[in-house]
Amino acid sequence: MRKLLHGLHHFQTEIHAINTEFFGRLAKGQSPDAVFITCSDSRVVPALLTLTAPGQLFIIRNAGNIVPARDDSGGEEATIEYAVNALGVRDIIICGHTQCGAIKGLLRPETLSDLPAVGRWLRHAEETKRILDTSYHEQDFDSVLDIAIRENVLVQLEHLRTLSCVARLLWKREIELHGWVYDIETGSVSIYDPIEEDFLPVVKADNGFQLVKAPL
Ligand SMILES: [Zn+2]
Repeated sequence: MRKLLHGLHHFQTEIHAINTEFFGRLAKGQSPDAVFITCSDSRVVPALLTLTAPGQLFIIRNAGNIVPARDDSGGEEATIEYAVNALGVRDIIICGHTQCGAIKGLLRPETLSDLPAVGRWLRHAEETKRILDTSYHEQDFDSVLDIAIRENVLVQLEHLRTLSCVARLLWKREIELHGWVYDIETGSVSIYDPIEEDFLPVVKADNGFQLVKAPL
């Protein structure tokens, strides 16, 4: 805790104090560029990953970067509704990550006996497990885990589409949904390409950024 208080002091005296104009502007309102839905894992730091400043990302975090489908009473739908309807955000990113403890728990439910609330929460990802059990049961655990992390991002994107505030904007083609997976060890981010139906690394090109398919 002492470490955190030291950090807080440093922020107030060395960062906030010399950027009063910026924080004063922030205090008047927000207009974030995107909703960023990711895992609570401490190793995933959205602002660091995207080099964004306060005010740029509207962040939702929970175990396993999950979006319960429509008609669930969780806070995720309310938070997304506020972002798109009240703040006018038009990009939503769901970002999974390597070595995700929630997805490990999903694949090995026997490890959750002392974590009943986690077990209940992961019901919102049971479709991911079903896909894995049907198609990938013969591979080793680490390979299955990597696939599960990606499949879960796609399953949660599907849930996102069921929310009425998102469905309405999708119908009008006024919102874009994005699936990312962040590799903690390498720092790389793979982004889902719906044409290739695969997660591809993003690289900088002359005219912007593009997803690159690895040579076979
Ligand atoms: Zn995680």
